[in-house]
Amino acid sequence: MQTLLENLNPEQLAAVTLPPQHALILAGAGSGKTRVLTTRIAWLIQTGQVSPAGVLAVTFTNKAAKEMMSRLSAMLPINTRGMWIGTFHGLCNRLLRAHYRDAGLPQTFQILDSADQLSMIKRMLKALNVDDEKYPPRNLMYFINNAKEQGLRARDVEVNDDYNRKFVELFEFYDNQCQREGVVDFAELLLRTYELLTRNQPLREHYQGRFRHILVDEFQDTNNLQYNWLKLIAGKGNAVFAVGDDDQSIYAFRGANVGNMIAFEREFNVQNLIKLEQNYRSHGHILDSANTLIANNSKRLGKNLRTDAGHGEQVRVYEASSDIQEAQWIIEQVKSLIGEGMLRSEIAVLYRSNAQSRVIEHSLFNSGIPYRVYGGQRFFERAEIKHAIAYLQLMDNPHNDSAFLRVVNFPTRGIGAKSIEQLQDAAKQYGISLYAAVPYVAGKAGTSLGGFVKLVEAMRFETQQLPLQELVKVMLEMSGLIPHYQTEKEGADRIENLEQLVSAAMLFVSEEGYGIDTPAYLGPKAAAASGPALLTEDGVEIIDADTPLAAVMSPLSAFLSHASLEAGDNQAQAGQDALQLMTVHSAKGLEFDAVFITGLEEGLFPHENSAQEEGGVEEERRLMYVAITRAKKRLYITFSQTRMLHGQTRYNMKSRFFDELPEHALKWLSPKAQQHHWFGLKSQSAWDEAPEAAANSIAQSFSNKVGNWRIGESVSHAKFGEGVIVNLEGSGANMRAHINFGKHGMKLLDLNIAKLEKL
Ligand code: ATP
Ligand code: MG
Repeated sequence: MQTLLENLNPEQLAAVTLPPQHALILAGAGSGKTRVLTTRIAWLIQTGQVSPAGVLAVTFTNKAAKEMMSRLSAMLPINTRGMWIGTFHGLCNRLLRAHYRDAGLPQTFQILDSADQLSMIKRMLKALNVDDEKYPPRNLMYFINNAKEQGLRARDVEVNDDYNRKFVELFEFYDNQCQREGVVDFAELLLRTYELLTRNQPLREHYQGRFRHILVDEFQDTNNLQYNWLKLIAGKGNAVFAVGDDDQSIYAFRGANVGNMIAFEREFNVQNLIKLEQNYRSHGHILDSANTLIANNSKRLGKNLRTDAGHGEQVRVYEASSDIQEAQWIIEQVKSLIGEGMLRSEIAVLYRSNAQSRVIEHSLFNSGIPYRVYGGQRFFERAEIKHAIAYLQLMDNPHNDSAFLRVVNFPTRGIGAKSIEQLQDAAKQYGISLYAAVPYVAGKAGTSLGGFVKLVEAMRFETQQLPLQELVKVMLEMSGLIPHYQTEKEGADRIENLEQLVSAAMLFVSEEGYGIDTPAYLGPKAAAASGPALLTEDGVEIIDADTPLAAVMSPLSAFLSHASLEAGDNQAQAGQDALQLMTVHSAKGLEFDAVFITGLEEGLFPHENSAQEEGGVEEERRLMYVAITRAKKRLYITFSQTRMLHGQTRYNMKSRFFDELPEHALKWLSPKAQQHHWFGLKSQSAWDEAPEAAANSIAQSFSNKVGNWRIGESVSHAKFGEGVIVNLEGSGANMRAHINFGKHGMKLLDLNIAKLEKL
């Protein structure tokens, strides 16, 4: 025990060893909240106050859950695999798998990710002949998710006009459609579980009796439904231990409600409120920057952070002339950090918007530095992977219409739009899934559709006894996906990704504790025999959710859930020492020796959307606070005068956040003033610290010749007329030219897009 509690400061120690009562730990970034939460779990178990099965811990991401489990196993000689540690969605998924019947779901229900949800809504509006300009699919989606996150079904939504009534009607229709297909969206996972536990007293009491200790990390980002869910599970006797930081609340746009912290204190009558003010993560200059910045926000619960770590190095600020040059500069710095002996995985490049990553990735790719991207074009969202997943989904649950439509004619098998229309009519008429409606389609269309059904059945049959990764392999061949991409010119990359899906399946199986030889369809049956029995209201015996996940879900179902729920980083790359790329949002809770925050420009960070929303800029500032506080030893902040985003060049002003950082903590590495544009335009003023280095690095980023263009060349453009190339940068897909068009002025053009003629 001594070792467990060693190295905790007095406040942390007090928090870890609180009596079994509700508690709120309110503390800033890097003050050890997550560490306190994890240590408390270990302490509770070690002192015999609770068994591992009596703990429910909620984390914000799956990655964080894994991290927590591995920390726990390092502290205690226990197997954490069966423990209830996960995200709200993950935990609900697990409950619903165990109690699918009581929840009114098919055993093989599947999870719709946001993209699937949107395309399903679009399809539905079309089938119902609803004007999608009047009722935009995206708005309907927000409407539905928002209602569900407030705990409301269609029938509970207040109707005050015709427009609203239509939304409610569509909401109802959507839910019925999901039910028919056996699919649930993210919000539904939570709402279903909430309703199940509300309705079913024995189940509720069972879990309330079981989870004596409920611990929640990142509490500031819970939404209302999650909060109510917690209240329900907590019941009367259980202790809820919540940790959070109001300054890091960054998901308001998704319905997170920071007010839950205050509500929690009041409604749970929290007697134990502990603040942690010692920061163990960041050096002084970094922490000063975070503190000074966040002080500009008005609505705060009030707390401070100090460090004993000393000032450390100043925060380096760099102004680039273009996003390409920004990326190149970052890579140079990364190389020098690696040269100093820093691990690549201890270096993170953060950006506000996913679209920024392309240029950085491009430069990284050329530099040969291994890197890993989190979020963004996620592995499971790539087109070829989505196709493969759709086949797997159909094998698991053929009534998933989205999956059906995605691959019924991919690779092409002569099933045209007409046939699909006929099929959709039949499905609508009988109120059944597309798959089930196939026998009702006559003629040639019926024959080719029947052929597809046979293919899916054959794939199921052939793979019955196979372990998951073998099943995936067979599916890739039988579906025709691999043969299809073999004939495609650019298919090699896609085939490689598909092969990575096999690796991902293999890794999944070994990590989740399925025997490597467990047939992919088997699982629940095996477990039903061993799991303790529990009676539901109607006296049906079911397995208890005590049984590990592997027992309530077949490996295939589990893998598919994982594909929908996991942030979806490319698992095949896991473990490699790679530079970390991610959005600021997905960096929450993490820490790195060195952090680069990129694109600190007005309109990008703070994001332009924030200007219209109330409190929008304050939320952006919290986001910046999260970004800064990820860094332990080195922090770099960059911005660029021009940036190509969504096919357009933007001329930027530096972010207002620079004015909110303490001057003494910053070191400007480039011309501070904004006046200079490129060479020869306006006079370049005040070169702050290192004029030569700055000049060199700018000059370095341009070359005399790019592709078959060179500086000084005369060109003509349809809109801007004649001009002279002043500068060239980038290469390949990123070639650009700065061109002086005389009376039209300087333009930065993408050489792959702009139609230029040589003169
Ligand atoms: P965030 O708000 O970013 O989630 P946090 O409050 O959860 O941060 P942790 O991640 O738990 O903070 O801790 C930050 C770092 O400080 C970790 O590396 C952790 O191991 C370290 N740390 C926490 N407490 C102590 C301590 N008492 N002594 C030494 N190191 C500590
Ligand atoms: Mg944390």
